[in-house]
Amino acid sequence: MAYGIAITSQKGGVAKTTSCMSIGACLAEQGLRTLLIDLDPQANLSLACGIDIYQSPVTLVDIISNPEKHYSIENIIYPTAQMRLDIISGDSRLADLERVLYEKPAYERTLARRLAPWLVDYDFLLIDCPPSLGSLTQMALATVDHAIIPVQCDYFAASGVENLLNTIQNVRERVNPTLAYALFVTLFDSRTTISKKILEQLSSHFGDLLLSTRIGMDTRLRESPMAAEPVTTYAPRSRASEQYRSLTNEIILRKELNYATPI
Ligand code: ADP
Ligand code: MG
Repeated sequence: MAYGIAITSQKGGVAKTTSCMSIGACLAEQGLRTLLIDLDPQANLSLACGIDIYQSPVTLVDIISNPEKHYSIENIIYPTAQMRLDIISGDSRLADLERVLYEKPAYERTLARRLAPWLVDYDFLLIDCPPSLGSLTQMALATVDHAIIPVQCDYFAASGVENLLNTIQNVRERVNPTLAYALFVTLFDSRTTISKKILEQLSSHFGDLLLSTRIGMDTRLRESPMAAEPVTTYAPRSRASEQYRSLTNEIILRKELNYATPI
């Protein structure tokens, strides 16, 4: 059964989608079969994988909204430019789903139930969450083993993390008691004093929960989605590719150690 990871933060523009694509590609590069799920109504991950969302492909919304329908695998799971990396796409209707999900009993379990038949064929499941702490994010957190939180070293970095951790704690109490989490620093600008200062604060506050790899600024990460490729094939030797490989190894290690996060 696939090991589930949700890349999550209620902030927009903190590299959730970029990280989902890059970590997914690094896992696949190592021979690990990985399924990406686009849970954001903006469907940026689907676009970055080259899916033409305007041609109304079957997306996650159909799978969740029509449980009685049996879709064949080739209509749901699309291959990407990277071998062993597949995706179930999202679309703008996820915004409506976010509103109606709350009314359904035990809605948090829906995603895990619907994905179960396909997850046996994968080693990893990676969910790209929307920038909110609503029902979609809570459903993702209920589905996975690990929440991975990207943070930027700016003045407002830590603000918001507490709210997210409260949500994680709440999901643990209700539906997923063994949910672990970790943070990592991204969009890091080592030249500025403020970045270094905030990094020090994050590291002393979160200790082991902060992964040691930092992702620096790299324009290759802005370019690769246009080529519908992950950075690791678009610019395999770039700094960003190397950093994401190192971050991915840290995540694999935590999985292997069965890393539990204290409450
Ligand atoms: P989110 O999914 O959290 O909204 P994105 O992954 O879409 O964030 O990233 C926001 C923007 O920042 C995108 O234009 C992306 O290409 C860019 N970006 C992400 N990570 C980096 C990085 N390390 N260096 C430079 N640009 C980055
Ligand atoms: Mg995004």
